Formats: sequence, structure tokens, C-alpha cells
Amino acid sequence: MSQESQTGQVIRGTGVVAGLAYGAARWVGRTEQPDGTDSSDGPAVGAAPGTPPSEEQLERDRERFTAAAATVAGRLDQRASQSTGVSAEVLSANAVLVRDRGWAKAVVKELKKGLAVEAATVAATETFVAMFAKVGGRQAERITDLRDICARVVAELRGLPEPGIPEFDEPGVLLADDLAPADTAGLDPEKVLGIVTEHGGPTSHTAIIARQLGIPCVVAASGLTGARDGALVLVDGGAGTVTVDPHEGPASAAAAADKKLRTKAAGWSGPAVLADGHPVRLLANVQDAGSAEAAAAGPAGGIGLFRTELAFLDRPTEPTPDEQAELYARVLGAFPDARVVTRTLDAGSDKPLAFAGMTREDNPALGVRGIRVDLLDRGLVDRQLDALAEAGRRVGGAQSAPWVMAPMIATVDEARDFSHRCRERGLTPGIMVEVPSVAVTVDRFLPYVDFLSIGTNDLTQYVMAADRMSSDLAALTDPWQPAVLRLIRAVAEAASSAPDGRTVPVGVCGEAAADPNLACVLLGLGVSSLSAATAALPFVGAALAEVTLEECRGLAAAALDCDTAREARDAVLARRA
Ligand code: PEP
Ligand code: MG
Repeated sequence: MSQESQTGQVIRGTGVVAGLAYGAARWVGRTEQPDGTDSSDGPAVGAAPGTPPSEEQLERDRERFTAAAATVAGRLDQRASQSTGVSAEVLSANAVLVRDRGWAKAVVKELKKGLAVEAATVAATETFVAMFAKVGGRQAERITDLRDICARVVAELRGLPEPGIPEFDEPGVLLADDLAPADTAGLDPEKVLGIVTEHGGPTSHTAIIARQLGIPCVVAASGLTGARDGALVLVDGGAGTVTVDPHEGPASAAAAADKKLRTKAAGWSGPAVLADGHPVRLLANVQDAGSAEAAAAGPAGGIGLFRTELAFLDRPTEPTPDEQAELYARVLGAFPDARVVTRTLDAGSDKPLAFAGMTREDNPALGVRGIRVDLLDRGLVDRQLDALAEAGRRVGGAQSAPWVMAPMIATVDEARDFSHRCRERGLTPGIMVEVPSVAVTVDRFLPYVDFLSIGTNDLTQYVMAADRMSSDLAALTDPWQPAVLRLIRAVAEAASSAPDGRTVPVGVCGEAAADPNLACVLLGLGVSSLSAATAALPFVGAALAEVTLEECRGLAAAALDCDTAREARDAVLARRA
């Protein structure tokens, strides 16, 4: 906190609630364990065991703990009754945790060792913390809840006010090491513009409540201490970044426009139509049957990218053809009458699949990944295609010739071969455009495919020669880069008049499609569908509802007329403000 923050410094974390927030950083008290200071009637809280207590003393301490816990639980219950939704659920769940018999028993066990009641409360809590940490994952994310209720009970035992976040006089961005869910539940979204924590995970209760409150939120932002209290920060809850002292004009304009959009997104439920009535194919990116069904329950007009490799990441062996057919049938069945695009395994690089037979490579992003798995075992993709064809037969109707695309296609030979394997099974073949070789010679690929899908994440990575996993290179791996925009335009133009006279549909399924402003530009560049995470669709849909196709073309022209990604983004933002 004492460190000076650098102007324009970007701190990266995990974005858990999309949205931009710009304001002064307000550090709030770190969620410390009750420290080792003396309590009035016993040894220090963190003290070592002393002489075992008499029966009477043990009973007195047990009663003190029980009374303090009951008071804290009562307060949480009361706050739950004044809250709604997830906030209410989390507050009630924490009240149950305070009344947990196992915890009370653990406290008594510590009291018997001669600890003072506060120290016994902390020690008992830490036993559970150690257990939860060992289990890891979601259980570990509950540690914040445990420590929070412990701090509340200890404060009550000491006769101190319950710990919490002081009210903000002015709107600002809340920064903390970590936040207790019970504190997050009480935040006022009018005052707390954004939340950034150095610790915490995407499924922590804090993240869940921030989502309900609609406060842009980034967790696990390592290096957050580099942002000093009072510094102006721009939080991007979608990208998971915190920019310290950004350029003020564009930052505040972006945050204001984003706030407006969030309000509109909250009221948008589809279908996607431009302001001139032009319908837009706005699709969802999914990774399994559950996410496909969740997408179908929302405004998605179909699925633009089913990342099959993500469904199998935890599988040590290849799923059987029947298992695969069952999964694919569920995904196709989620949208029986709409477009569903399945992608064959994009194993390798950051998505290693145990059963794909890949070996360690020095440069895996440029190695055996995507369709190159054919080099190891053509059977993997063939069996996927068989299973997808079987799924199509099971679901029937509009899904009887499922759309399927191959990732990481680089040569016409690969496209021709993939297309042939699809057609002989009655599938509708497409390819992803994510290797620059395809983008610059796309007319040569068009005769073999029925559709294209531009993967802007990899296309940007390969065009800019910048690792998409590198946080230091975030400015380069930005799909607003003029070189990327020009390639998208070239692909869309070529596909609109294929050599054989067809118009080949071109979608974008990389993260670019989730950026509401860039989504407008993409349509203006001639892209015919957009596919993004279900959570992003209301933002994109609400932005599209405000522009005509002609305006999209104007925005695309403005972006193309820039020298840098930042200028392109600012130019579009200025025109949309
Ligand atoms: C992409 O590269 O843009 C894409 C959609 O594929 P993935 O992110 O799964 O590599
Ligand atoms: Mg990709």
C-alpha cells in the first residue's frame, strides 16, 4: 500500500463480474486473523496452551462462546431477512456456520488445553481452515467465510464493534486483500463502483454476491498492493484487469458508457436485432451439456462454438463413441431448431488432453494442437465425427446434418481432408480461421467449406506473435489491433463472394465477439454471426439494439482508419458515446 503505483500499470487477476468501473481506490481493512493482542480476561488470543481450566472456568468460557456465537448468528439472520437472492442465502448460510456444533465442540477442545476463549475460537477455526485448504477447490474458497465468522465472534467476545467495511462517503473502487461474503452482501452499488481483491476465487461467495449486486469485480489480482490508496483505477471485470492511473478522459468515458450499457443489458432479453430491424445471429459458446442447456434458457439464438475438448479435460481416457454421441445429442438437443456448431478437439497448448497422446513441446502454441492431432492419431477426430453424426441422427430435424468445424487449420490440404471426412458422414463442414495463413488465402479454402468461424483469440496471438497467456503482452493480444481487424474484413469480404458464387457464412467466436463495441465493428466488417459466453450476450445484444447496420459499417471504417488498437477502441467509443 505504501508503494507508489506506476501510471498505466496493469494488474491482472480473474474477472468475475463483467463491467468497467473507474474511480479512486479505497483500500479497506485487510481480513486479518484476530491478532495476538491481549484480551482483558485471559492470555493472548494466539497464546500457547496454559494450565487446563477448572470445570467452572470451562463452563463459563463455553457459555461466553455460545452467547457470542448466538449474537453473531442472530445479526446475520437479521441481515439475511433484509436482503434478497444470493446475498440473503449467503448470510443465512453463514449464520448456520456460526451455530455449527462441530465448531463449538472444537472450541471446547481448545478451551480444555487452557486457551482463553478468544484464542480457543481462533484455534478451532484454524483446524477447519487447514482441513478446507487440504481439500482445495471450492471448499478452500469457503475459508474466507470461516475466518469472517471467527473474527465476528472474537470481536463480540471482546466487546468490540463487529468488523466490517466502513461506509464510503464518495463513490470509489474497493480494494482489499480479501473480502468477507457477509461484508460484500452489505455493499451499496451506488457507492462501491468496483471490487478488486488480491485473493479469493471466481466461485467464492464474494464473487457470487458481487455478481448479484452487478458490481464489476476482479479477484486473485496478484500485485494489487502496487495500487496506492486514492489512486485512480480502471477496473475491467470482463478482462480481469486493473489499470492504475489510466488516461483519464477515455477511462471515465468508457466506464460511463459501460454503466449505461449494464443498465440496458439488465433489461435486454433478446432476440438480437439491430436498431434498423436487421436480425443478428447471436450465439453462445459452451463447453458441455449443462452450459448448452443454460444457454438455451437465455437469449442465445443457438451455439456458435461447442469446445468439445473442455468437456473432456478431466478424462484420463478417450470417452467411448456412445458416451460422446450421448453428450453431443444433448448439446444439439438444447437447440433443436437452431444452429449448433461443434468444434472437434482443440487439444494441446493450454488445453492438454491426457488421452490425445501429446508429448511435451518447447513451444506448444505452435506445436501439435487442434487438427494437428491427426498427426498422432486420425482416429480421435474420426471417432468424434462418427459420434456427432450419430447424435445428429438421434436428434434429427434441423440437427440431422450437424455443423462441425476444425480448429487450427493452416493449409488447404487440411481443410479439404477435414471437409471430405465430414461430408462422407453427412456432416456440414467448416473451419476455424485462427492461423494467419488461412486469413490471407481464404479464397482458396472457401470451395471446401460451408462456413468459417474466426477465432480471434488465436488469430490475434499468431498475427501479433504474442502469447495469449502472457499478461505482460495484453496490449499486443488485443483483437482491436488494426492488423487483426483488416484480416477479419478480408475474410468476410472474400466469403461474401466465394469463387463458386456462394456466400459463405462467417462467424466470430473468439472473445472479440463478447466486447459490445467490437461486436458492432465486427458486424460492420461483414461478419454474419457472433458467438460469446452466455453471460456476455445481454451486453452485446443491448449494444447491437442501439446501432443500425449502416452505423456498424461507419464504426468499422473508423476503427480501420486507426494506427493502434487503443486509437481504434477510442474512436469507436467516441462515436458511440
Ligand atoms: C479462438 O482462438 O478465438 C477460439 C475461439 O478458440 P479457443 O479460445 O478455444 O482457442
Ligand atoms: Mg483458438
